[in-house]
Amino acid sequence: MGVRWTALVIDDAISLAAELVRELEDAGARVLTATTASEGIGHLIDGPIDVAIVDVELTGESGLAVLRHLRSEGGQTPVLMVSLTDDPSARAAAFAQGCDDYLVKPVTPAETVARAQRRMELHKLLLAAKAEAARLHELAVTDGLTQIANHRAFQDRLREEFRRAQRYDDPLALILVDLDHFKNVNDNFGHQVGDEVLFSMAACVKAAVRETDFVARYGGEEFAVLLPKTHLAGALTVAERIAAEMHKIKAGPAGLRVTASFGVSGFPGRSVNTSEQLVRTADEALYRAKREGRNKISLFQAAVLASAS
Ligand code: GH3
Ligand code: MG
Ligand code: MG
Ligand code: MG
Repeated sequence: MGVRWTALVIDDAISLAAELVRELEDAGARVLTATTASEGIGHLIDGPIDVAIVDVELTGESGLAVLRHLRSEGGQTPVLMVSLTDDPSARAAAFAQGCDDYLVKPVTPAETVARAQRRMELHKLLLAAKAEAARLHELAVTDGLTQIANHRAFQDRLREEFRRAQRYDDPLALILVDLDHFKNVNDNFGHQVGDEVLFSMAACVKAAVRETDFVARYGGEEFAVLLPKTHLAGALTVAERIAAEMHKIKAGPAGLRVTASFGVSGFPGRSVNTSEQLVRTADEALYRAKREGRNKISLFQAAVLASAS
């Protein structure tokens, strides 16, 4: 039968723990043993351990050193401490340092193993709950159609990046991308083809920017690209690159070519003192690109300068 789990037994008199080792093996465990704290820590470093059963009174360093080391490294492996004495303050200290259970000798191997298995079950449930929470979080911040960040994730990231830019006096740029005449794609080829084109375009935008930039589906056929530590001139270059990549793409099953209009704005800048103003000004620039014939990139500041001159 295959080994299902690994137990680590640390006791300076491992011969006395022989019965416990046998009981663990009978319960399906692979058992590693150590007689000192440092040898035990070595095992914990070497590979995954499902549960550790640690004698408090080890020769040399106390068994609590193993617990401290494990928890200080962030390891959450269940640890059962076993002591010769039932000293309430030692018990309290062990729990304060992160032990999961504290047994006082004599304790039968059967009880020790049963307690160890219970702790492992709880630990497994905790890991599963954490994984599920991470999965749900991912769903909550991801757009189902395009698999890029959604509007909510964009709003959170925008606020965060804006605060960071203000605090560190860094520039922050925003590009809003709106596909041109996208309604025609749906009208002429059907909504499903429209969806596939949107998916391709989202992937295209994402691939055209750096890992540290943030791409989200801002609305129906609109994308937002947040560029930390980037000035307007840099953002313009990025918008040009996105447009060039989009032009290369034959999207969806119909091999459609789609163009987009771009509005670019940046902080710090005239009329851009808040994250809301950053979005509003990029949106204004986008609408100017639309008004001026689409398939164009428009900078917000250029608009201000133009009207000022
Ligand atoms: P413009 O150049 O002015 O942006 O024209 P447009 O047709 O792209 O703009 P409009 O805002 O009139 O229409 C947006 C279209 O985007 C209409 C809507 O059906 C389509 N759209 C929005 N979300 C989705 C989606 O999830 N899937 C599909 N297939 N189409 C979508
Ligand atoms: Mg001992
Ligand atoms: Mg639109
Ligand atoms: Mg559009």
